[in-house]
Amino acid sequence: MANIYIHLSANDINAAMLEASGLKLPEEEQEKPRVLKCPRCKEIIDKKAQFCFKCGLPLTQEASTTVETIKTDYVQLADLDEIREMKNTLKRELEEISKLKDMMLKAEK
Ligand SMILES: [Zn+2]
Repeated sequence: MANIYIHLSANDINAAMLEASGLKLPEEEQEKPRVLKCPRCKEIIDKKAQFCFKCGLPLTQEASTTVETIKTDYVQLADLDEIREMKNTLKRELEEISKLKDMMLKAEK
């Protein structure tokens, strides 16, 4: 009989320790459904997920903001690439003009 009580209290302590360390949810939170359906692809996903693992849909406001930030960064990077390319083209054209100028100067002599 004493063994049963000791066992139960040890379990209670373990549960409390897990709960305190954030590894286990309190009893009342475990009762709530911990999954939801993706509004886009209807995949069952963990309620804590930031994105749908199947279609990639952002599921929280934070995730949406992250996606927008990444999109903006990507556009800016693409612009930077474009500017770099334009700079290279201009450099090549300037070199071409310089060569033509030299040729014209030589021809004048
Ligand atoms: Zn989905």
